Amino acid sequence: MTVLPAFLDAHVHLTLIDPATLLSGGIGRVLDLGGLPAASAIDLPEAAYAHQFLTAPGGYPTQQSWTPPGSVCPVATRADAAAAVDRQADAGASVVKVTLNSVAGPVLADDVLVAILTRARERRLPVVVHAEGAGQAERAFTAGADMFAHTPFSERLDDGLIVAMAGRMTWISTLDIHGWGARNDDFARACDNLRRFHAAGGRVLYGTDLGNGPLPVGLNRREIEGLLHAGLSPDAVITSLIGTAGLAWTQDRVTVIPGARPTDPAGFVDWLCTARAVAATDVKEDA
Ligand SMILES: [Zn+2]
Repeated sequence: MTVLPAFLDAHVHLTLIDPATLLSGGIGRVLDLGGLPAASAIDLPEAAYAHQFLTAPGGYPTQQSWTPPGSVCPVATRADAAAAVDRQADAGASVVKVTLNSVAGPVLADDVLVAILTRARERRLPVVVHAEGAGQAERAFTAGADMFAHTPFSERLDDGLIVAMAGRMTWISTLDIHGWGARNDDFARACDNLRRFHAAGGRVLYGTDLGNGPLPVGLNRREIEGLLHAGLSPDAVITSLIGTAGLAWTQDRVTVIPGARPTDPAGFVDWLCTARAVAATDVKEDA
């Protein structure tokens, strides 16, 4: 048996799923990247929240059918930025989620983006950006974003930019949303970017965008296979699962994986996917 820190899915939307099987599926912590906080319950993973999506008026995901009512905070001008960040911070947010999706509507201007990041720093909140569309990932990085909610997939980022990003950014993987097993061009571009980001020393967090399409509620085997495909070693995959995203987690939960860890990659994935999240005290009682 192997006991590890509680696994984190660093990109979920709790309001879009039934989270009841997350713990038995190996996920002990979740970072909710947009939506309204769910009622907390003892048998759910520990959750940290972004609360509302900060976006340009009419910007993504204002017009999406899945967007929970009240979960978007439009930011029109630089002068609106501080209040928008404060609203999330005062509601208990652990991160600020910003969307820059030029494929699905208008995006924030550079000065508004910088004003959001400035206020988030003052409130000591990391900023997680959904960057989509040509040039949006570079804009987010230049403005000072801390994390990407998705491995960039709209375009191949050049090596110099990737190395610069690896110096100070964390990327949340979300590879499997690109086809849910039917790997498409976005999957290939994301893996190409992630392979170079990881090789350059960039920090990678396992994250699935749970709530976006047909994803399993628990560890996602296809996401793990995607991380291996993008050049992460089995040890690096585990590192991506036990990261804290720089947040303070308080519940005393651990991940338990029965049996010995296989040395071959296929066996490793099978073994990892039998993980369960349990209270640390339960493990001690078993021992
Ligand atoms: Zn998402």
